[in-house]
Amino acid sequence: MDMETARIVRKNRRTGSEIEVCTADSQGMDPDGGKWVTLCWTHHTMMNHETRWEADRAATTPDDWCEGSDPDTRESTGCRAVWEAKQEG
Ligand SMILES: [Zn+2]
Repeated sequence: MDMETARIVRKNRRTGSEIEVCTADSQGMDPDGGKWVTLCWTHHTMMNHETRWEADRAATTPDDWCEGSDPDTRESTGCRAVWEAKQEG
């Protein structure tokens, strides 16, 4: 299927992050956790999904899954932190 090889990068409206939906294969990643992958290029985080639909849905709310912490300061980073900072502002 052609759709499986298409790369879709979107700028997320909530966090301004660059989010891509693609297949695990296209990124050379293990598809065991789900053949579809949502990637946050801004924070270099990713999440596997079983279906394209789930991956597309996750792409609209990266603050639900894109989180990390700075190894030095232990401050949270990622889309969740961006979104929470927006709410406080
Ligand atoms: Zn992110």
